[in-house]
Amino acid sequence: MSTSYWLDRSEKNGKKTYDVVVVGAGISGLSTVYWLNQEDPSLKIALVEKHRIGFGASGRNAGFITCGSVEHFNRLIGKHGKDEAIEIWKFAETNLQLLKDHIIQDQGDKIEFKHRGCYSLAAQESEFTELKNVAKIMTDIGIPTETYDSDRILKCVGAKKFVGGIKYMDDAETNPVELLNLMRTKIKCDLYESTEAHGFEQTGEGTRVLKTDNGDFEASMLVFSLNAYSATMHPFFADKIYPTRAQILMMEPVPAFMDGPCYANFYLDYFRQMPNGSLLIGGFRQIAKETEVGYSDHTTDQIQNALHDFVVHHLPQYKDKKVSHRWGGVMGFSRDGQPMVGSLPDDNQVFFNGGYTGHGIGLAFHTAKSMVDGIFGRNVPRWLSARRFS
Ligand SMILES: Cc1cc2nc3c(=O)[nH]c(=O)nc-3n(C[C@H](O)[C@H](O)[C@H](O)COP(=O)(O)OP(=O)(O)OC[C@H]3O[C@@H](n4cnc5c(N)ncnc54)[C@H](O)[C@@H]3O)c2cc1C
Repeated sequence: MSTSYWLDRSEKNGKKTYDVVVVGAGISGLSTVYWLNQEDPSLKIALVEKHRIGFGASGRNAGFITCGSVEHFNRLIGKHGKDEAIEIWKFAETNLQLLKDHIIQDQGDKIEFKHRGCYSLAAQESEFTELKNVAKIMTDIGIPTETYDSDRILKCVGAKKFVGGIKYMDDAETNPVELLNLMRTKIKCDLYESTEAHGFEQTGEGTRVLKTDNGDFEASMLVFSLNAYSATMHPFFADKIYPTRAQILMMEPVPAFMDGPCYANFYLDYFRQMPNGSLLIGGFRQIAKETEVGYSDHTTDQIQNALHDFVVHHLPQYKDKKVSHRWGGVMGFSRDGQPMVGSLPDDNQVFFNGGYTGHGIGLAFHTAKSMVDGIFGRNVPRWLSARRFS
């Protein structure tokens, strides 16, 4: 992208000096500022955002605050071993607890937030068998779940043609933009919206200069909280965080009947009934993996039609209702499905967090805390540290 002489604000606005400059004002960037404020309230922090708070995935997601991971727990154990899989699950549970304790607290009137669990539904017997196995493993290690047959699924969430499912008792749901707005009231920083970062330079004094279309920002530390957009800032991320699109469709309201948000088809598809009775449904990127990559947030007929067909098949309560919204957003998928934090291999004053693989609302607050732990010399879990890729 190029900037014209007339729009270029860099010379007019001059150089700005901070202790830390955080780039990206989604849930990662806001969480990073929050934990830096907690660590040292005297730090002078700038938060730099190309568009406005929540313009990226953080303002476009489904609002599930999911504990655990992007796959069934038995598969997580298969990849990480039992102890690390439990650690990963507990990390996400702690994310929810931290959000409740530090951000949501007693702000009931300012934010839509429900902590009533979340369902994982199976349309095939083979997935239900796997889910029952998951429920058994989780019960044995003290993570609360309940198993539901098709009748009970129908009664609790009104979804037809599922053979069964399980309920994770600890998951929650929210309005993600209200969450960001609440976070904004709890952080101390100078926010520069409409400010695009183009890269950074090292200076002789050991500081870093972030180059933007709104002038230079000098700081002793930079943090990239860019998730899907990380590789646009530095090539280190090109083979670690991949921009991956997700699409959502929303149907006009019917009276409330759903007792909680639901995943289906191995976490790939998801839906929830909004407080006003609208239906939010997303997923189906698996049917068009070749188009659902890159930085475009457009919707496509192929996926939108698949989402609508799903509604007609499983949630006929909405079959005569109109579509009220369609949108897309760009997620950052990491190479192994887990988020990553660290500093650039050739620059230990430039830090980053990202790679939530579609689960940043369930992970980013705790991930930012861990990144700040790392900055201040405390341990970061092995599975979260970007060093696992070196
Ligand atoms: C459709 C959809 C549904 C989802 N559903 C869920 C869900 O239910 N639960 C869940 O946990 N997760 C969900 N996710 C994933 C979740 O939204 C993301 O993991 C999370 O929002 C990532 O937050 P972030 O702050 O790291 O990135 P983002 O929110 O993408 O923020 C990055 C910011 O960086 C800014 N930026 C980019 N380039 C520059 C630059 N050069 N200079 C300055 N600023 C820049 C962008 O404008 C953006 O605001 C979903 C995502 C999508 C798209």
